[in-house]
Amino acid sequence: MIVMKFGGSSVADAPCMREVAALAAAAHARSPLVVLSATARTTDQLFEAATAAEGGDLPGALALHAALVRRHRNLAEELLPAGLPADLDGALADLAAELDLLLRGVALLKELSPRSMDAIASIGERLSTRILAAYMGAAWVDARTVLRTDAAFGSARPLVPDLEGLAASILAPLLGPGRAVVTQGYIGATAQGLTTTLGRGGSDFSAALFGAALGAEDIQIWTDVEGVLTSDPRVVPGAQPIPELSFAEAGELAAFGAKVLHPATIQPAVDKGIPVTVRHTRKPGGRFTTITAEVRTGRPVTALAHRGPVTVLTVASARMLNQSGFLARLFDVFARHRVSVDLIATAEVSVSLTVEADAPLEDLIADLSAFATVGVAGGRAIVAIVGERLKHTPGVTGLAFGAMQDINVEMISMGANEINLSIVVKAEEAKKAVQRLHAALIGGGAA
Ligand code: ADP
Ligand code: ASP
Ligand code: MG
Repeated sequence: MIVMKFGGSSVADAPCMREVAALAAAAHARSPLVVLSATARTTDQLFEAATAAEGGDLPGALALHAALVRRHRNLAEELLPAGLPADLDGALADLAAELDLLLRGVALLKELSPRSMDAIASIGERLSTRILAAYMGAAWVDARTVLRTDAAFGSARPLVPDLEGLAASILAPLLGPGRAVVTQGYIGATAQGLTTTLGRGGSDFSAALFGAALGAEDIQIWTDVEGVLTSDPRVVPGAQPIPELSFAEAGELAAFGAKVLHPATIQPAVDKGIPVTVRHTRKPGGRFTTITAEVRTGRPVTALAHRGPVTVLTVASARMLNQSGFLARLFDVFARHRVSVDLIATAEVSVSLTVEADAPLEDLIADLSAFATVGVAGGRAIVAIVGERLKHTPGVTGLAFGAMQDINVEMISMGANEINLSIVVKAEEAKKAVQRLHAALIGGGAA
């Protein structure tokens, strides 16, 4: 079997939905499991409606609700002009009623917990998949009955052994040549049946999890670009598709901001050795990227990614000199405050680290101050240069820093896996840095 995941832009309107249905039908012989996102902008609108309700603006929230429900009904009616089948009509009405109830509850309490937010966010994928399944005449599966997770609402982690058992008993019997099965990306549920989500952009992760659990031959990520490109095309318009990428390169790019893949996507595929392909829904015969373990590209630089804002903490201690256990003590503080660290660079008496811009720092800094002085620089961005032969190619760093002569590089970190050279710059200079690096290291026709 194969997994075909379609992102929000792939199901933006009726022509897009028809394209998705046609692609799934063309793959019928390979027993496709279609993993679908919410339609374009829907998840954002659900967050907006929930936030309005939390602020006590129930009329505003309900207006967004009405527009969202109307948009989905119009989509269904355009796809099924002879009239909606009763089960689809009923499902759309039930989802609209559920969303109404949830928004009223949030407005009444003026409280929006991550748990409530997940329940609200799940409506998007449940709507889009109902419509596609009805249009295709395909089986519809509620992903919450299969994708078992922990209770970390908003960024739930899969419970893989449970998921494997549920996929075998619920999904596998429905899959087979000559038909497609449709389910949702992004959403799951705890053992108690509480709805969870895997975090924004999490449908890619769902696709990989389902694919790994079912032993898929291929996990296809269908989106609005011709594969993974040498840079974010919104920053570098001339960015080129990369035909082949290693798991390691793809993992680094995703972790450092290449939105085309959710950062967790690659791992389940790596664990089972399943290739991941990234393709353009509107150009199915066009170029695409294949991500596998075997690829040995030999390229010094494959692609660039950037992510921000992040905050740089510089922890200095005169006592650090010659002192064993300093780093253990330092990281113990980060672990206790559950703040995760991205990049690290050490000097004789100081350590610089990057953390997410929204990391809760007040108590952490108070604890660090017991044995060190702490400098905080917000509004920074990480630019990652990724390539399998980066470390072994003389001159790459010279070219990179030459290209950024007028950009202040505040921190440099070579990833331990040797395929990622990350630099930290002011957030407002990140785009310029990426453009310069792309011109110097990748150029127009490379990749
Ligand atoms: P989907 O809705 O299909 O999941 P996303 O918007 O999440 O799509 O991801 C696709 C987008 O990722 C592209 O439209 C592009 O703007 C952005 N992107 C960022 N970096 C890259 C990259 N290196 N290669 C391709 N796309 C990228
Ligand atoms: N619909 C969700 C989001 O927008 C998940 C996804 O599209 O991957 O984040
Ligand atoms: Mg996405």
